[in-house]
Amino acid sequence: MKQIFVRTESKDERSEQQRRCSPVMVHIPHSSTVIPDDEIDHFVADELEGELLKMTDHYCDDLFDCEHDKLVFPISRLVCDVERFRDDAREPMAACGMGFAYTHGSGLQKIRELTPGHKLGIETCYYTPHHSEFECMVQRRVREHGKCLIIDGHSFPGKALPYEMDDRTERPDICVGADAYHTSRELSDMTKEFFEGKGYKVAVNDPFSGSIVPMSYYQKNPDVQSVMIEINRDLYMDAAARKTNGYAKVKRDVGEYLDCISKWFEEK
Ligand SMILES: [Zn+2]
Repeated sequence: MKQIFVRTESKDERSEQQRRCSPVMVHIPHSSTVIPDDEIDHFVADELEGELLKMTDHYCDDLFDCEHDKLVFPISRLVCDVERFRDDAREPMAACGMGFAYTHGSGLQKIRELTPGHKLGIETCYYTPHHSEFECMVQRRVREHGKCLIIDGHSFPGKALPYEMDDRTERPDICVGADAYHTSRELSDMTKEFFEGKGYKVAVNDPFSGSIVPMSYYQKNPDVQSVMIEINRDLYMDAAARKTNGYAKVKRDVGEYLDCISKWFEEK
């Protein structure tokens, strides 16, 4: 495994048994900068480092760390984006080369050569195992608690990347992603109010919308609730992905949010 950025990933030492089984889980799909050796040569070399810097949800695995089970995709989204639909026909971003296996990057430029066989390999090797694990984690909660809350943790650049087609200069501090079926009004309102109460400028479904749910529950079981939290990276890191002084406050506030929303969900 080759890591472009040298950083100590946050490690969770607690075993599955020691972890409290709660109805809440955290999903972190985009925080890794790991490009496996056998994938590296398929990329346009000059593009890789810059794309990792721009496209990675840096430190989200740490910012969203909590007592609940956390599913962190351990490979960079540039290799496989598990947040996308498997079926390109369903995935709007596939039209610009950013379905689950990117051929194009943040500037809509070519970043990788991809044959159909290679794409199938990425699906089998990375996409499917991640989603199987995701399904299992949700299923366990539905079985034990009759419900599940998925917190989908992301971050976004303060200034929009070309692929986002967003030419505004002002972006919110926190974007709450709500799904019409899987995010209750109460859940999105509470989330918005919590972060507003901490002094952040919050928008719902802007600039990013929706929140992930495993396909077997998608629009089938309203007891599987999901909310996406997108944090503006300008709050906690600089342009070179170094933590800034704001980091500790963001981490503390996200932690408090997770405690607060979990307590509400468990009791309701
Ligand atoms: Zn993300």
